[in-house]
Amino acid sequence: MVLRRTLLAAAGSERLRALVAGTGPARRLVGRFVAGEDIGDALEAARRLAADDLSTSIDHLGEATAHPAQAESATRAYLALLDRIGDAGLARRAEVSVKPTAVGLGLGPEGEALAAANIGRVCEAAAAHGTTVTVDMEDAAAVPATLRIVAGLRAEHPDLGCVLQSYLRRTADDLAAMAGAGARIRLCKGAYAPDPATAYTAHRDVDSAYVRHLRFLMASDAYPMVATHDPRLIAIAGMLAERAGRGPDAFEYQMLYGVRPDEQRRLAATGARVRVYVPYGQEWYGYLARRLAERPANVSFAARAVVTR
Ligand code: FAD
Repeated sequence: MVLRRTLLAAAGSERLRALVAGTGPARRLVGRFVAGEDIGDALEAARRLAADDLSTSIDHLGEATAHPAQAESATRAYLALLDRIGDAGLARRAEVSVKPTAVGLGLGPEGEALAAANIGRVCEAAAAHGTTVTVDMEDAAAVPATLRIVAGLRAEHPDLGCVLQSYLRRTADDLAAMAGAGARIRLCKGAYAPDPATAYTAHRDVDSAYVRHLRFLMASDAYPMVATHDPRLIAIAGMLAERAGRGPDAFEYQMLYGVRPDEQRRLAATGARVRVYVPYGQEWYGYLARRLAERPANVSFAARAVVTR
């Protein structure tokens, strides 16, 4: 728990970012979780995964934008990515995931409207190419505005996906409000530093909440996107889907690029829908710190990489 807190705090440290960014071992570690630095790398990964019957949600890395010009540049990166997805004939397989703080949320009182407008532009482009968008969920401070943005945009883009985090105590209510017909909802445990006042902090409490939310989601009219690598939760999701009479096209599993790739392929081979979250870009630092915080084994992998450089 202490290690996790330290790593999540490090996710926001500019000094540490500068220290690790240039080292070879850091680059090797990044390569395990990040498809590469440019669009071509992301598309190549999407193509490779599609050959194994795996769909993708591509994330242009970046978060906590500090200036409107950066928000504009992140939005344009998504528009360019969607053009390339369309040109590559990957629109049936690849969608995009967007972080609201990358496209303006957090930029003062106008930030919410700016992020909503920018995500709206990404939705228009996705629709024009025949694919979809999912809005990532960030730290607890961003949740209310993110939910308002998604609710507002869904009037025009009903296929806009949204993430809910089971570690937040509020999620049962958010799920009940959101799980209307066809609503694409990605359920995850939650990757940011949890505040005990508003979130479950013990693993077993988060897991129990996940099962409760999954039960509700599978029985609802929404489209469940089960984002976890946890073998127990994956098995429970399968059972609940069957109990709810959902066929393989009526929900999907989602996992992160580089995490349990054999399990991704195994599930796809059973006929299940599986989507892999594929991050790319230069702003990999915060994303990598969250992956290390999730799993001690990833930290020792990182330490070994540094020691053996
Ligand atoms: P964990 O508690 O990390 O792991 C449970 C078990 O899974 C482990 O005990 C082990 O058996 C197995 N396992 C996990 N990792 C490995 C591994 N590397 N190798 C072998 N076994 C492993 N979080 C957000 O806050 N917002 C988001 O928008 C968001 N989007 C996400 C999108 C996707 C597609 C996914 C998969 C996750 C996303 N997350 C997001 C991250 C999520 O919240 C969790 O932090 C992350 O998925 C780790 O939790 P877990 O459910 O995999 O279980």
